[in-house]
Amino acid sequence: MKEINASDFEKEVLNGGKVVLDFYSTECPPCEALAPKFDSMAALYGEKIKFLKIFRQGNRELATALGVSSSPTLLFFDNGKQITDSISGGIKKSEIMSRLDLMISEEEVKEIKIRLKPTVSEYDVAILGGGPAGLTAGMYLGQAKIKTVLIDPALPGGYMGITHQVSNYPGFEQPQPGFMLAHYMSEQAKHTGIDFKVAVDITSVDLKKKEIVIDAYETIKAKKIIIATGTSPNTMNAPGETTYKGKGISYCATCDAKYFVDKDVTVIGGGNSAVEEALFITKFARKVTMVHQFDKLTANQTAIEILQANDKIEVMYEHEPRKFDKRDGKMIATLENLKTKKLVELASDGVFVFIGFKANVNVLGKDIPALDNWGYIKTNEDMQTSIPDVYAIGDIISKKYRQITTAVADGTIAAMNISKEL
Ligand SMILES: Cc1cc2nc3c(=O)[nH]c(=O)nc-3n(C[C@H](O)[C@H](O)[C@H](O)COP(=O)(O)OP(=O)(O)OC[C@H]3O[C@@H](n4cnc5c(N)ncnc54)[C@H](O)[C@@H]3O)c2cc1C
Repeated sequence: MKEINASDFEKEVLNGGKVVLDFYSTECPPCEALAPKFDSMAALYGEKIKFLKIFRQGNRELATALGVSSSPTLLFFDNGKQITDSISGGIKKSEIMSRLDLMISEEEVKEIKIRLKPTVSEYDVAILGGGPAGLTAGMYLGQAKIKTVLIDPALPGGYMGITHQVSNYPGFEQPQPGFMLAHYMSEQAKHTGIDFKVAVDITSVDLKKKEIVIDAYETIKAKKIIIATGTSPNTMNAPGETTYKGKGISYCATCDAKYFVDKDVTVIGGGNSAVEEALFITKFARKVTMVHQFDKLTANQTAIEILQANDKIEVMYEHEPRKFDKRDGKMIATLENLKTKKLVELASDGVFVFIGFKANVNVLGKDIPALDNWGYIKTNEDMQTSIPDVYAIGDIISKKYRQITTAVADGTIAAMNISKEL
């Protein structure tokens, strides 16, 4: 792998034929996650495509000129012209390969795919999910010198990584940005020596055989599996929701509220997440209208009092969305008044949905452990599921309170039990 500077750009990239260029930074976890994938891609495609890397902070002017604003970012060039879109953040192998395949002939792609050899690695424990639950289990297992791998299709952190401020995690006098807490936990787990396989495609999971295949060709066998795959936001199943998802309808205020400076926003929901996120959105938006199905909010009293004191927020009680449209650039939510059954239209610049969560059990293959009536995994007090040697921790398990503190507690319990068993 060759490293270049801005002064080499013309020779190595613009006149360099087929090139993939990695803008990386130091102290950059997603860059560390990308490095082994980039190396393995270079070993496969290296005869046809040149793999180069460049230090972003040391070559800022060039990065800015090429529109690169974060690390890592991969750019693809053919004969001096940038081809395909650039990719950045938690980059998966499949995302790189699909772009590299466009740069060479079909014959060459076939030849490369034949050379792709499946690999098998063996661990004592495989943890599925790198949120606070999985990271804590990883840290304890690493400290107990148990050979562990943590697998996540995204970068580590889970919901913590996208929570604006966390004010109730013990040990910090001031509220912490969620992404910093995620960073600390992730680095702490990594320093214990466990393997991280993050930003990967989960090809298949077999909980009975204890086998997980990632990126199509890499099989991970483990003696024990810990499930820590958390939850996903519920959707409303209202017409238009899927069409406008990401194009006017969002499920993440931390990710998208910044696009609504001085705009009108609709928030669907009235529980803790909805109230907290609506308050956060008021930092940007001009006005927030909350739409809630009941006649009072179901969040905790302190949060409700803060919300009621915020004059940017209005609540429409006893209304439920029936469909979503877009007209003249505005999102139109058609709401039913649950008392009168009348339909009203509410226009805004964007809609945020916070109406609860469902357990991510559909990603666990065909043999799923026993679930409770709400679809969460049942465990005993040691975090064992109904499948031998399979544990579950964090938000995905059947329990009353889902918080970072309860997730890390579950991770601790599972890891300490496993440490005794192995
Ligand atoms: C908007 C919001 C704000 C919150 N604010 C707070 C707060 O202030 N304080 C607090 O204590 N709690 C808060 N919570 C709750 C808290 O974030 C969760 O209880 C906690 O993150 C649960 O941790 P977890 O590890 O079980 O799951 P998650 O954090 O959900 O992590 C699950 C991980 O599993 C990964 N995953 C998904 N599918 C797979 C798969 N197939 N294979 C492998 N990995 C997979 C995901 O990518 C993710 O990284 C908040 C939650 C939300 C949504």
